[in-house]
Amino acid sequence: MIIVLKPEVTEAQIKHIIDKVKGLGLTPHVSKGAERTIIGVIGPEDVLRVTPLEAFPGVENVIPVLAPFRLVSREFRKEDSVIDLGKGIKIGGKEIVVMAGPCTIENIDNLFEIAREVKKAGATVLRGGAFKPRTSPYSFQGLGKAGLQMLREVGNELGLVTISEVMDSRDVDLVAEYVDVLQIGCRNMQNFNLLKEVGAIKKPVLLKRGMASTVKDMLMSAEYILSGGNFSVILCERGIRTFEDSTRNTLDISAVPVTKQLSHLPIIVDPSHAAGKWGLVPSLAKAGIAAGADGLLIEVHNRPEEAVSDGAQSLIPERFSELMLQLKGIANSVGRKLNENI
Ligand code: PEP
Ligand code: MN
Repeated sequence: MIIVLKPEVTEAQIKHIIDKVKGLGLTPHVSKGAERTIIGVIGPEDVLRVTPLEAFPGVENVIPVLAPFRLVSREFRKEDSVIDLGKGIKIGGKEIVVMAGPCTIENIDNLFEIAREVKKAGATVLRGGAFKPRTSPYSFQGLGKAGLQMLREVGNELGLVTISEVMDSRDVDLVAEYVDVLQIGCRNMQNFNLLKEVGAIKKPVLLKRGMASTVKDMLMSAEYILSGGNFSVILCERGIRTFEDSTRNTLDISAVPVTKQLSHLPIIVDPSHAAGKWGLVPSLAKAGIAAGADGLLIEVHNRPEEAVSDGAQSLIPERFSELMLQLKGIANSVGRKLNENI
């Protein structure tokens, strides 16, 4: 940590700060320049983080040297984490993992139909919401447990890994009983109680970036899950709120390489919730893979015009299948692989 002092700082104020730092068991190094004096502090930064050094007279600014996240950081683990999702599917290695399916589970027949199509096109993970975070309390809220049962039935029948959102810490055990991967939606990225609950389970968690959160905020949220003992975390860039209104959210493509630099965890891109319009989804999906994402989360619906939610951004199976073939070429060109069976 570096403590930058004000130009008019007095010797007494410097001594006061040094005494405080030493009192915390840390080693201060004073460096006096022509214009400014700075104090470098060596030792565990945690104790200083909870000490409001900015409040000390003579202090202008405090600059942390280490990132506040630890277990998720590249320093903690140099090599990329590869996470086992079950049914032979791993994410974070060479293979790109595509998760696809409807926004909301509507009924078993329709889920089967969509699942068969996405599987045929090369997706290995079936998505489907049973607990839906809707902006309006009057919108369809999801089928709950019945939806989870359908997802498990279809996933088992077709050999697909399943993923579904958990919104409430009271539902973590229920969702974990039925699905392979638990999704934390963007609106709950900083629901710390929920993060602690999924930190205590033994299933992989997909953590979506909050729509008004920085990459570092997302990594701090992931740190909650890892610090609870669950290292199977996949991050997801799904677009953030900006002044741009041509899309539902702005896909922050730079979040992919930035996250890769800072963390060993896999990161995927959700082009559907970023775009909000199906016509933009293929371009964003391709950009995600080109930027180094480990996978994609794509909404697919067999009859988008009848979809209960997010029909406007859902691809029909034919377009999804066409996209998968294009993605294969992009994956190869950046040294990755997409499902070898397509
Ligand atoms: C979803 O993927 O079902 C979803 C609701 O996405 P987000 O949390 O990113 O809005
Ligand atoms: Mn959706």
